[in-house]
Amino acid sequence: MSLLVLKFGGTSVGSPERIKNVAERVLRLRGEGHALIVVVSAMSGETDRLMGLAREIQPRSEGRELDVLLSTGEQVTIALLSMALESRGCPARSYTGGQVRILTDSMHNKARIRSIDDVRIRGDLDAGRVVVVAGFQGVDEEGAITTLGRGGSDTTAVALAAALKADECRIYTDVDGVYTTDPRVVKHARRLERITFEEMLEMASLGSKVLQIRSVEFAGKYNVPLRVLSSFEEGPGTLITTEEGRVEQALVAGIAFTQNEAQLTIQGVPDQPGVAYGILGPIADANIEVDMIVQNIGGDGTTDFTFTVNRNDYEKAMEVLQKVAQGVGARQVSGDTKIAKISVVGVGMRSHAGIASRMFKALAKESINIRMISTSEIKISVVVDEKYMELGVRTLHDTFELEREPAGPSAS
Ligand code: ASP
Ligand code: MG
Repeated sequence: MSLLVLKFGGTSVGSPERIKNVAERVLRLRGEGHALIVVVSAMSGETDRLMGLAREIQPRSEGRELDVLLSTGEQVTIALLSMALESRGCPARSYTGGQVRILTDSMHNKARIRSIDDVRIRGDLDAGRVVVVAGFQGVDEEGAITTLGRGGSDTTAVALAAALKADECRIYTDVDGVYTTDPRVVKHARRLERITFEEMLEMASLGSKVLQIRSVEFAGKYNVPLRVLSSFEEGPGTLITTEEGRVEQALVAGIAFTQNEAQLTIQGVPDQPGVAYGILGPIADANIEVDMIVQNIGGDGTTDFTFTVNRNDYEKAMEVLQKVAQGVGARQVSGDTKIAKISVVGVGMRSHAGIASRMFKALAKESINIRMISTSEIKISVVVDEKYMELGVRTLHDTFELEREPAGPSAS
């Protein structure tokens, strides 16, 4: 008998009607002979509603009591789902994170899971029950309730799957899988049958918001097969797995893009050892994360330095940079928030040259100016003017023929 961990997100349990639908689906899978652990989120909008309440009391709510509050959202859904299952004759038992004993560190609002006690759950599964666990929450050594950060139920599901060595972790959501790019931008974007953990991490961190990034990291680390699928329609979804047994031979898995970044440039910096540190040190000290970095070769003894940060950090970064500029005697500081980053992602790039030049050629043909480029083993990113984002994504989707099903395994 196989063990599956199923996770249903907020929209999937957004009303009593939908919770009943989830129960029906759980029953069908149980009928197929699977042992089941079901992780649920709070009903859609509930976590935001609770956040709002907290802010009315204390505008900068955070820490321990916020976790006590936020964790109640999931406690509602585990109870309702278990009732729905029981009323259909399916033995079920609900647990909060603390009751399972999902032990976390004490970093309130963004805790990390340390260990999971599987004794209770095993006992229930052996007794033929469906186990329903509240996502997004745990408990620290002291017994204080913790939460795992927004979207954390995905991580709860993967962690349970890892701890109980489940055969698969299925994340039911409002999309039917992971796509080659956002179907709102490219109509003929294609659902991927499979994608590797690494590719998914790049796609997720670059803006495809299907899964909490940490859950993908976790799944990759513990090698938990992870499947994203629709909670509203039947279908195979997308399997996220290791590169082993990869059947699709595509060089490029998908195109990710984001408008979340802003660009800052400092010009005419004296070109000497320590420049990069002199500029990025203070930025890091201000707790601002830097993504892409470009430094020019110095000409007249000075150099230019450009980097990107999250758009929310733009003002703060600008302030820091202006001070730095005065300190090092730089000529000028400038910035732009109207940029977009487009990335081509695929593990196939490792063994194939020429992806970058195809990418640049395609963008050039559309007269899209590239401002910055960065590459990793499985990704090439460019920063372009925000107004060319959609055109760029479409062009690249066409160039790499992502709408087409890739060829099967090659003969070799
Ligand atoms: N309810 C939490 C949130 O809205 C956790 C989750 O849904 O994964 O972020
Ligand atoms: Mg989610």
